[in-house]
Order: sequence, then structure tokens, then C-alpha cells
Amino acid sequence: MSQEYFDEGELVGVLTAEPLDRVLDYKAPEGGCWLGAFVEVPLGPRKVLGVVWGQGRGDWDIAKVRSVRRVLDVAPMRTELREFLEKAGAYTLTPMAAMLRLATRAPGLSDPPSMRKIYRLGATEPDRMTDARRRVLETLAEYGGLGFTLKELSDLAGVTASVVKGLAAQGAVEEADTPRDTPYLPLNPALPSKALTPDQELAAKVLREAVRSGAYGTTLLKGVTGSGKTEVYLEAVAACLKAGRQALVLLPEIALTNEFIHRVEERFGHPPAEWHSGVTMTERRRCWKMVGQGAAQFVVGARSALFLPFRDLGLIVVDEEHDTSYKQEDGVLYNARDMAVLRASLNKAQVVLASATPSLESWANAEAGKYARLDLMARFGAAKMPEMAAIDMRAEDLPGGAWISPALQGAVHQRLRDGEQSLLFLNRRGYAPVTLCRACGEQVGCDHCDARMVEHRFQKRLMCHQCGETKPVPDICPSCKVEGKMAAVGPGVERVAEEAARLFPDARMAILSSDLFGSARALKQQIEDIAAGDTDIIIGTQLVAKGHNFPRLTLVGVVDADLGLQGSDLRAAERTFQLMRQVAGRAGRADRPGQALLQTFQPEHPVIRSILSGDEEGFWRAEAAEREATAMPPYGRLAGIIISSPDAAAAFDLGTYLARNDGVLRALGAVVYGPAPAPIARVRGRHRVRLLVKAPKAAALQGAITQWVGAVKLPRDVRLSVDIDPQSFY
Ligand code: ADP
Ligand code: ZN
Repeated sequence: MSQEYFDEGELVGVLTAEPLDRVLDYKAPEGGCWLGAFVEVPLGPRKVLGVVWGQGRGDWDIAKVRSVRRVLDVAPMRTELREFLEKAGAYTLTPMAAMLRLATRAPGLSDPPSMRKIYRLGATEPDRMTDARRRVLETLAEYGGLGFTLKELSDLAGVTASVVKGLAAQGAVEEADTPRDTPYLPLNPALPSKALTPDQELAAKVLREAVRSGAYGTTLLKGVTGSGKTEVYLEAVAACLKAGRQALVLLPEIALTNEFIHRVEERFGHPPAEWHSGVTMTERRRCWKMVGQGAAQFVVGARSALFLPFRDLGLIVVDEEHDTSYKQEDGVLYNARDMAVLRASLNKAQVVLASATPSLESWANAEAGKYARLDLMARFGAAKMPEMAAIDMRAEDLPGGAWISPALQGAVHQRLRDGEQSLLFLNRRGYAPVTLCRACGEQVGCDHCDARMVEHRFQKRLMCHQCGETKPVPDICPSCKVEGKMAAVGPGVERVAEEAARLFPDARMAILSSDLFGSARALKQQIEDIAAGDTDIIIGTQLVAKGHNFPRLTLVGVVDADLGLQGSDLRAAERTFQLMRQVAGRAGRADRPGQALLQTFQPEHPVIRSILSGDEEGFWRAEAAEREATAMPPYGRLAGIIISSPDAAAAFDLGTYLARNDGVLRALGAVVYGPAPAPIARVRGRHRVRLLVKAPKAAALQGAITQWVGAVKLPRDVRLSVDIDPQSFY
């Protein structure tokens, strides 16, 4: 049992978010401090935020040990979260300082609590009643329990601020100071849910019981888009709130729409707390603090919400659990899905992984009995899975520079006649992936990366999708200097949109691609407009695959179903399968049946065949067997090592040295591949070299890797990062 409380002057170890490799010793402040307390400590000339992590080590000159300046007025970090940060840090090989940074990503935590004035009903009558005054008093009588700010109250009552001030001067309205960060409105889990279908009710019942058990468990909730997974997991949330514990729903950033917030509001009477990139800094701080005090019962957020200081987290839902955006690809390389399971197991909480197309990892964990599995069989109401068919592009007559086959055109025309929506899907941003000189064959590349530049016609520029660098589309070839021979090759969504505009001149169109919107909010607005039905043809990248409701959509045309099948990525087949099923799942949600047409040059490819036949279990079994035979994840383990340097030779030398001195890894039965140039071998002027470690499932990989890379001293300007369970191989 570690010490819980430290008297003034006792040595405490404080973890800070500064890049230091150890917990620092301080003396407990006047009044002492608790284990887990958030504190402000002096560090050199600065004051920094820290957390009391345990007893001090006592290996500093005691005369030099300084005192904690003060204990912050926020809830101390609970043991569960401290353990979570330590375990997650050990798993991902991330220094604790970086883990603490993840857990304190709200501004102004060390500021004194700021106050604001609020107005409530006062005890006295005003000297004289006017219409305006009456409206203020009535508004307060009706809703004013918690009080309003001056602006809220004058807006609601339709009066000027001076009316409220006048009433306050007389005591008819009471003016009070309250902390700016206020509790979220209490949710009511007892409000009625929708009448669930027998299928849904069965699943809801199992989840409610799991939540009530107060034990850890993970359930895979599988069901096609529209089968009511959200409806069902909101029942688990209700059970969790009834038990007095907090619930967290994680969504891919892009799926965090108002539509979802409204659904929560309908179900529980008030909106949940939100935590994602679209939330203001003030609101972030409020969320962080209230979560810690238990005054936010339900948080809906993006992956980093997993690091909030919940007082008692009882349920984590990971919606669209297969989504690749759960893996953070820079900074701390963690997978929020896996970390949700870890956090829940430390806090006797339940996890629900919801998806129409689960990741192979989750599918295999359910097969192995580690996760429970619930299946929702049918779509709710009249909506059926769309009919799926391939368009064999070898048999279609298409001129060069055109990508929408006559067969697909016919299907779109049909929808236009019937007043229904079509979606043309191509998972490639921009206008054209390659700009080529027809005189010399030169392809325009990025000056800083080994990547070709993608033409973005709306911005009239070429852009590098690795580093974001842009330049104008050249008129003269940068290599052979011949003029007027530069040509766009291949399609991106913008080019398909151009083609569609030619083919369907009267249709109303919208393009959904992440780079066409200034902000996540603008994008969400566009999605909502489309859902409202203002569009005949949607042209989009994978953004459209994520859980939006387009009720009038009845046709999905996949422009290039072969796109994801190329490349050497371990997960290429799985990703293509998921993406195609998700996209197809967009069609025919309401009462109209849908159709999905896949343009492909290889209709006999096993992945295309299993998409078309709808034999999902067959696909997973085959994919799992393949991975098992080659001892690949989830039947074996991988770790990526990326070494980068402005000097290619320096990066390679280090890679070669590591590959030759891999004794600690071989002792585990692990194999090291590489060094090889990373698939994008140069990014932002740094050369990148990759090693891949493949180990048996049971191997203690992290410890061995730490020893292995810890034995080399990094030359100046060389960086090394370790990616445990890599998702992409860049
Ligand atoms: P999923 O999360 O599996 O995509 P949703 O829960 O979003 O499915 O359900 C799809 C649509 O069907 C939503 O508009 C939802 O409100 C509606 N729906 C699902 N189940 C029911 C039900 N039992 N009663 C009424 N509407 C339902
Ligand atoms: Zn670049």
C-alpha cells in the first residue's frame, strides 16, 4: 500500500509534463498534499504543472529540494488513471511526461477558478412593474433555477441589459458570483427509449446487465449500418447513468455531428459534454474539470477523451471501432480502441465496440472468447441491405480521361428521374494524383518528400499529401523546360466531379473531401445539408463512409474498387472490405431499397467476391487463416521502428547497426526486417528508414525493444520512434 497523504515538508515525487526522464523530488507544501494531487511546482525559473506521483526518492541534496508552490483546486488524479497512464505508457513505449500531457490537455488548469456573475430571482418586489420587468421575472420564475448570465437573461426575456441591472439594484433580481466552469445539466436516464425490436432488446438487455455487474468486460456489437447499434448502446449508457457512474462514447472526429448530440438530448433530456477539436478552449476546461468532479455524467468525444480524469467511468463505447482514425499517428502512437479496453479493465468498467465491419483484431478476440459478441441482424424498419453488383470495367467502353462507366451513368440517370440521391465514391483527394510532362515523362514531385504532388484544381495548386507543401501547376516542365505539355493523369474526387457535371448537367452536386473545408464545422454543416436532401449527387472520399444518415440515398457507385487492393499493406484487404461495406451501407436506409455498384478490373478477386456475396464471416475466416499461417497480427506481434535524419546515410547506418545487433530480440524468437527506406522515404526533408520487428504473440516485446534501442546513442539530428502494433506502414 503506497502512502496516500504527505505532511508539510515530506518528500514527494512529482511527475511533470516537461520532457525529463524522471519524477522530481519536492517538499510537500503547507497543509500537506494527497497522492494524485495536481500541483504547481518551481522548475528552474518557471512554474509548471505536475501530479504528486508517490514518495520522493530522496536522492537529491535535501538542501536543494524546493517546495511545491501550491495544490491546485481540481480533483486529484485517481489511482485508476495513474495506473492507466503508466500501463499505456509502458505499452506504447511513451515517456510518462508525454502521457501526462495527454491527460492534461485543457488550458488554464492552474489558473485560480474564474468567476462570473449570474442572475436569479430575488426576494423583493420591484417598486414599479413594467412589461419588460415582468418578462424578466417570469423568465426567471420559469427556468431560472441555476441562474443566467446577463446576456442569457436579457436575450431570453427580450429586454436590454439595463432592465436586468435595474431590477438587481432593487433586489428583485439577485446577482451572484459562481465559478465559470459549471456542472452539466443532469441527464435523465429514466426517459423512455424508442420501442426496441426483439433483436435490439435482447442486445440491450445483455449490455444493461453487463454494466450493472460492476465488472470489467468487452462486447463486440456488430450490426449493419442502420440496424440500431446506437439505439442499443444508448441503453447501456442509460444503465450506467442509473448506476451513478460516468459513460464515454468515442466517435471518429468526423462522425461527431449535431445529429448525434440531438439523439442524446432526445434520449436523456439534455446534451452530453463534448470533447473534440471543435470545442472551444473554455468548454474544454469546463469538461475536464467537471468530469473530474463527477459533474459531467456523459462525455461524447474523439479519441483523446479517453485520457479525461473521470471520477468513476463505468462504460466506454467505441463506435465505428474499426476506424483507422482511432490510431494516433503522431506524437504518442496509441490505439484508442485498445487503450479503452485497458482503461476499462483497470476500473471495472464495460467496453462496447460497435461496428458494421469490425477490425480483424476484434473479430478474432470475439472468436477466441475474450470479447462477448452481439449481432444485430436486420436494418431497422423497412431499410434493407443494398443489392451489390460489380461493373466489370474490362467490358465497359470508356474513353481515356473518363471514369464513370456507361453502366454506372445509367444507374445515376435512373435516380435523377426518381428524385433520389446517388453517391460516387473515390477514396482519393484532389483532382489528379499525378502531373506528368508528355514530352519527357517527368512526374512533378515534392521538393521535400519522395511523393508525387497531387493537383488540386479548386485551389489551382499542386499539393504534397505528406507535408502539405503546395506550388502552382507548372506550365513549363521543371525538367525538360518544354512548354504546354504538362498533363493531369488519373482521377481524384474533383476530377470525377468535373466528369459528373458534364454527364449530368442539371443535377445538384456536392463534393465531400476533407481538404475542401476550412474547418470540421463547415464540413459537418455540409454533411447535414446533404442529409436534409438538397443534393442529387454526392461525390466523396472516405469521409462519407462514416455513419451519416442520408435517407434519400439509394445508389452508391464505387468508382475504383481496386484502389485499396494494391500496395503491400498487411491490412489492404481488410480495409477495402470494410470501406466498401461501409460505403455500400450508405444506400437505402429509409424505405427505399439501395443498390451498390463496384467498378472493378478484377471482379474475381477474393475480396471483391466476398464483398459482393455478403459472406462476411467467410471473409474474416479466410483473412484470419492467412494471418495465422504467417504469424501476423493478431496472431503475432509487430513493431515498427522509424529512423529519420536529414542525412540518408546516418539513418541507414543506425538501422543497419540495430539490425546486426538484434540479440535481445532473437532471444525472444523475434525477427528484424530491414533497414529499408520507408514507403515514403523522405518527408519534410528528412530521410526515413524503417525496421520491422515481428515477434511471437506471447513475447515480452516492449522490454526487449527498450533494451535494444536503448543500447545505441542517437547521433545528432537522428530521431528514432517506435510504433507498437503499427496500423499503417508509413
Ligand atoms: P446504427 O448505429 O446501427 O447505424 P442507428 O441506431 O443509428 O443504427 O439506427 C438507424 C436509424 O433507425 C436511426 O434513425 C434510429 O433512430 C432508427 N431506429 C433504430 N432502431 C429503432 C427503433 N427500435 N425504433 C425507432 N427507430 C429506430
Ligand atoms: Zn512534401
